This record gives sequence, C-alpha cells and structure tokens, in this order.
Amino acid sequence: MARHYDLIAIGGGSGGLSAAERAASYGARCAAIETGRLGGTCVNVGCVPKKIMWYAAHLAHALDDAPGYGFKLDYFDFDWRKLKTARDVFIRNLHDWYLGYLNRTGVDLIHGFARFVDARTLEVNSELYTADHIVIATGGRPQIPSLPGAEFGMTSDGFFELEDCPPRVAIAGSGYIAVELAGMLHTLGAEVTLLVRKEQVLRSFDVMLRDLLMERLREDGLTVLTHTQVRAVARLAGGGLSVYCDGQTDVLKVDTLLWAIGRDPNTDALNLPAAGVAMNPNGAIPTDPFQNTSVPGIYAIGDVTERFHLTPAAIAAGRRLADRLFGGQPDRRLPYENIPTVVFSHPPIGTVGLTEEEARQEHGDAVKIYQTRFRPLYHAFTARPTETAMKLVCVGPEEKIVGCHLIGEGADEMLQGFAVAIRMGATKRDFDDTVAIHPTSAEELVTMR
Ligand code: FAD
Ligand code: NDP
Repeated sequence: MARHYDLIAIGGGSGGLSAAERAASYGARCAAIETGRLGGTCVNVGCVPKKIMWYAAHLAHALDDAPGYGFKLDYFDFDWRKLKTARDVFIRNLHDWYLGYLNRTGVDLIHGFARFVDARTLEVNSELYTADHIVIATGGRPQIPSLPGAEFGMTSDGFFELEDCPPRVAIAGSGYIAVELAGMLHTLGAEVTLLVRKEQVLRSFDVMLRDLLMERLREDGLTVLTHTQVRAVARLAGGGLSVYCDGQTDVLKVDTLLWAIGRDPNTDALNLPAAGVAMNPNGAIPTDPFQNTSVPGIYAIGDVTERFHLTPAAIAAGRRLADRLFGGQPDRRLPYENIPTVVFSHPPIGTVGLTEEEARQEHGDAVKIYQTRFRPLYHAFTARPTETAMKLVCVGPEEKIVGCHLIGEGADEMLQGFAVAIRMGATKRDFDDTVAIHPTSAEELVTMR
C-alpha cells in the first residue's frame, strides 16, 4: 500500500526543501525525496564550497595588497589541502543541521531515487508514495561535451574534490562557473587559460561588466583565448593532458581541464511521460508563472526549469508555491523580474534588472544611462590598479531605475539594498535624495551625474 502525503518534493536541495518546509509549517503532511546529499548543489558542490574558496582567494589578494599599507610580509604559503579538509567538515555539519531542521519541521526524508508511476504516484526503492501535490525540484548537472577525450576533463563537481591546486588549468566556458573558478584557481596559484568560444565572457551581462572583467582577467595574468573551442582531449603518457583547440591555439598542455559550459536539467530518469509532464527539447520543465507544469498538481521549481538558476530563486519559488497551496494566498508567486545576482569573480560583479542593451530594445530613446568608473580609495595604496565601474539604466521622464550594474571591490555586498529600492520602483531622484555614506564606493551610486 502506498504511503500518502499532502505534498512530496522530489529533490532535497534549495527548492525542494523550501517547498516542503513551508508547506509543513501550514500543517501539511510533507516529504522530501533525496537520492544524494541533503542541501543539493548549493550546499555540496555549489554556492557554499565555492564561496569558501572565493574567500581564500580574496584573502590572497589582501595579502598581496598589504605591503602598500605598510605591512612587511616576507613569506606566506597557502595550504589547499588544509582548507579543503576544513571545508568538508563545515559542509558535513550543514548536513546534520539540515537533518535536525527537517525533524523539527516535521518533514519526512525519504532516501532514494524517485520515478513517476503516474501523475500522483512515485516509486522509490520499490516503495510507492502518493501525494496530492508533487514538486519537481531535481536541479541539474554539469554538461560534458561529446568530443574525443572529453571524459578526461572534470566539471565544477570535480573542482570541489581537488586535494591540491593543479599547476596548469584550462577552463572551457564563459559563464558564471568559468569566470569564478578561473579567478579562484589563478589567485590561489594555478596558471589558468580560459577558453572562450565567442568574443567575451558573460555575454548576457551588461557590456560595461563584460569589458571590465575581460580587462581584469588579462591584467591579473590569466590567459583568455577568445573564439577558441576544444576539439579533442588526450591523456599524456607522463601525466597531464593535451587539449586540442580550434581558434587562438592549436594545443595546450595542462594538468587539469575543467568543463564549465552550462548545466543540464535532471529529468531524464524521472519517467516524466508516465505522469504526462511536458518537457522542453533540452529536458527542462516549462511552467506557468505559478510554477504549474502541464499536469495539474505537479509543479517544477529551481534549476530543473528554464528560469534563473540561483539558490534564492529556487527557495523563493518553493516557499511561495507552498504559500499558495497551503497558506491561503492564491496569488502568491515569484515574479522573475529584478532578481539580483552576483558573480564571484575577481573583482565581483553585482547586477539587477535590464542591461543597457535590453533597456534600449524595450524602451528606445526613453533610456538614460548614468555611468562611472574610478579607482577606489582602497586601491590608491595597492599595486593592483583594480577599478570599479557602476551603471544605472533609467527610463522615462521620471528616470525610473530599471537596471543597476556594478563591478569592483564590495559589489557583491553592495547590491542587495539597491535591489530592494529598485524593486520598489526607485527613480534616479530617489537615489540623488539619499544621503551618501562617505568614504565608500557605494556612495557613487547616489552621487552619479
Ligand atoms: P539542487 O540544489 O541541485 O537540488 C536538486 C536535488 O535533487 C539534488 O540534491 C539531487 O541529488 C536530487 N535529485 C535529482 N533527481 C532526483 C530524483 N529523481 N530523486 C531524488 N532526488 C533527486 N547560486 C547562487 O545563488 N549563488 C551562488 O553563488 C551559486 N554558486 C554556484 C556555484 C556552482 C559551482 C554551481 C554548480 C551552482 C551555483 N549556484 C549558485 C546555483 C545554485 O546552486 C542552484 O541554482 C541551486 O542549487 C538550485 O537548487 P534546486 O533545488 O533547483 O536544485
Ligand atoms: P552558464 O550558463 O552561466 O554559462 C555557460 C556558457 O558557456 C554558455 O553561456 C556559453 O557561452 C558557453 N558554452 C556553452 N557551450 C559551450 C561549449 N560547448 N564550449 C564552450 N563554451 C560553451 O553556465 P555555468 O555552467 O557557468 O553555470 C550554470 C548556472 O549556475 C549559471 O547560469 C548560474 O545560473 C548558476 N551559477 C550561479 C552562480 C552565482 O550565482 N554566483 C555561480 C555559478 C553558477 P557563449 O554562448 O557566450 O559561448
């Protein structure tokens, strides 16, 4: 006999846990099914271990900068293995925390891989579970291209397994993961070559961000080869890899090749046809604005959908779905406009709303741009000429701010508050009327002319 729940979330990551926990807080009987480690991508092979490595790289930069402030640092060394051990312990503790949290919130955890039997029934380890509401939150996995020797490369999952910093790394890709891992590996001691198949990295971001990041990557000493694609990979007899390319190089000899070319949704083994849930050709699940799939009572949230692949977006979509289903809030949903995001590059990028290009396409001549580029006070005393750039994209006579783009020291922490203001409909005048905080870089955002 099948065990019945009000709501089952498939996936114990950011989205699934959030939907189940919020639904349980309204008294619903809930379960989350997880085949791997609790917390999903973000906790185990994403945001959390990534940010720890980013902090390490940030510290390495600070140590480089310290002599400019009068410090004498004759010698410093970095122990990757020590940091990895501490990072792994930290993440194991997070698993315990999640287990306790599920217990406290009354969500059942079912270990195993879920497959649909029909639109209301799931099978896990030969047991059947039914639910009135099923939330698909199975996330995604890194893509590996199909070309000769591609299996010799690793993905971001493999990066988090590395016990030492590889001396020479090639990274294929040009999105978030490529630029983040390139920056960290370079700063922590690797010789990094970024293989970008088109003309720039982060092509969907505002042009100001892309231009400055490309400058910084090169000035920091990374090799960025544009219009360059990997053709084949071969293992070398004495260790290391030959990466054969079309473009600015024919062949690269490296110790590690990292694929960072996007992620595929985890839908192929779910047996979705048994439930009748429609998929896009790439396997992602299309939903309406309320996260409904093509089948009533089945929803999809997070990376398994086509929208913003970010932890807070998966969490917000999950919680709001539960608010709608069990919290008496029938109109509750996550609007996907103005979702802020940070790229943990060096320096970091913070961005929200429309790029200049998108705004001009949508609003034509009604667009007005405010932009600044400067060397922050901090870098007046460092050997790194790192600049900060900021752009406000405004629309109409009232100059409503529809986009805010930042790159530079502190951009990651700066953006959140401005994202609130922009979501509330702030105009350039509202920014101008806000008294600046001095001396900071953020004050430039309220003093731009
Ligand atoms: P996931 O967290 O991937 O959870 C899905 C879970 O479902 C997994 O645990 C999986 O094991 C399980 N599962 C899959 N199929 C089944 C099945 N059939 N049965 C049972 N269980 C199943 N986002 C940010 O906002 N900030 C960042 O700094 C950031 N950094 C990132 C860095 C990296 C390297 C990566 C890869 C991603 C990063 N992201 C970041 C993105 C973020 O991790 C994802 O957007 C987020 O984890 C998506 O949550 P989810 O619940 O949709 O999927
Ligand atoms: P992205 O989608 O960000 O970028 C991948 C890029 O790689 C593509 O846009 C494409 O760029 C390029 N590419 C695609 N195929 C190939 C190929 N065969 N060879 C060479 N290049 C190729 O994917 P990521 O894997 O970097 O990250 C996945 C998602 O995870 C992100 O989109 C983001 O939502 C999330 N994430 C968020 C982070 C954060 O919040 N800080 C950090 C890390 C991930 P082009 O077309 O220009 O060549």
